[in-house]
Amino acid sequence: RTVYLNGDYMPETEATVSIFDRGFVMGDAVYEVTCVLDGRLTEFDGHMARLARSLKELEIPCDISRDEWLEIHRKLIELNGLQEGGIYLQISRGDVGDRDFHYPPAGTPPTVVLYTQSRPGLSTDPKADEGIKVISVPDLRWHRRDIKTVQLLYASMAKMAAEKEGKDDAWFVEDGFVTEGSSNNCYIVKNGKIITRQLSNDILHGITRSSVLKMAQEAQMEIEERPFTIAEAQAADEAFFTSASAFVMPIVEVDGVAVGSGKPGSVAKRLREIYISESLKSAI
Ligand code: PLP
Repeated sequence: RTVYLNGDYMPETEATVSIFDRGFVMGDAVYEVTCVLDGRLTEFDGHMARLARSLKELEIPCDISRDEWLEIHRKLIELNGLQEGGIYLQISRGDVGDRDFHYPPAGTPPTVVLYTQSRPGLSTDPKADEGIKVISVPDLRWHRRDIKTVQLLYASMAKMAAEKEGKDDAWFVEDGFVTEGSSNNCYIVKNGKIITRQLSNDILHGITRSSVLKMAQEAQMEIEERPFTIAEAQAADEAFFTSASAFVMPIVEVDGVAVGSGKPGSVAKRLREIYISESLKSAI
C-alpha cells in the first residue's frame, strides 16, 4: 500500500512515527473513516466537518483545508486502485520530545496519517441478509463520546466480549439505557416508529445516523429521538445499527432474545437499500 504521512506519499513499510508521539503515548489523537464505494468517497463533507469539530474540541492545530483533504483522499484511492473499502485518517498532537501531560508549545506540528483499507464486497455483505447478534455491556467510556478519539480500548474489549459469546457486536448501556454500539449508532423500530437516542456528549454524532434519519424522514417514516432500554429493544419489532463502513445493519438478537421475527426487519432493509443507493449517487 501507498500511505500518506505528514505531506508525503510513501510505501507503508517506510511510514514511521516517533515513539514520543502523543498519539502513541497518550492516545492523544482523533480519526475519521470515510467509506469508498465504486472508487469514490461517500459522505466526505460530513466526515471532514466532524474531524474539524474533534480537532477544535481538543485544541489540536491542523490547517489542512477541505479541498486539500479531498485531494489526499483521492490520490490515495488512485495510487492504491481502491474500489470498495475505506480511508482511515488520523491526526495526533504530534511528536512532543518527551512525555508530558501538558500540551506542547504552539507550532508543534501534528502527525497526519492516512491509509486505504480495501474491503471488496462491503456493499453486498451477506451479514446484512442474516442480521447480527449483540450483547450488552456497561458503558464505561469517558463522557466526551462526541469527540472521535483513538481511545478505543473499551470498544475493543466490548467487541472481544461479544466474540467470546459467539455474537457479533456489543451495545453500551448507561443508567439503564442504551447509548450506542461499540462502533455504531443503534435504533429500534416499534409499531413503524424508528427510535434512536438523541445527540449529546453521550454518543458519537454518526455521519451515517444523520443521513439515514434524513432519508427516513423523506420516506415519511416516523422518528423519535430518545433513549431506549434493552428490554424495549428485546420487545421491539426490529433493531439495527448504522456506521460509515456497515451502512444500515439489521440486528436480530439482543442478549440472547430474538428481536421481532428474528430476521432482518423491513424498515432496516429498506433504509439499507436507500442509503447505499443514495451514497453511490452522491459519492465524490
Ligand atoms: N458510534 C461510535 C462509538 C463509533 O465508533 C462510530 C463509527 O466509528 C459510530 C457511532 C458511527 O459513526 P459514523 O456513522 O459516522 O461512522
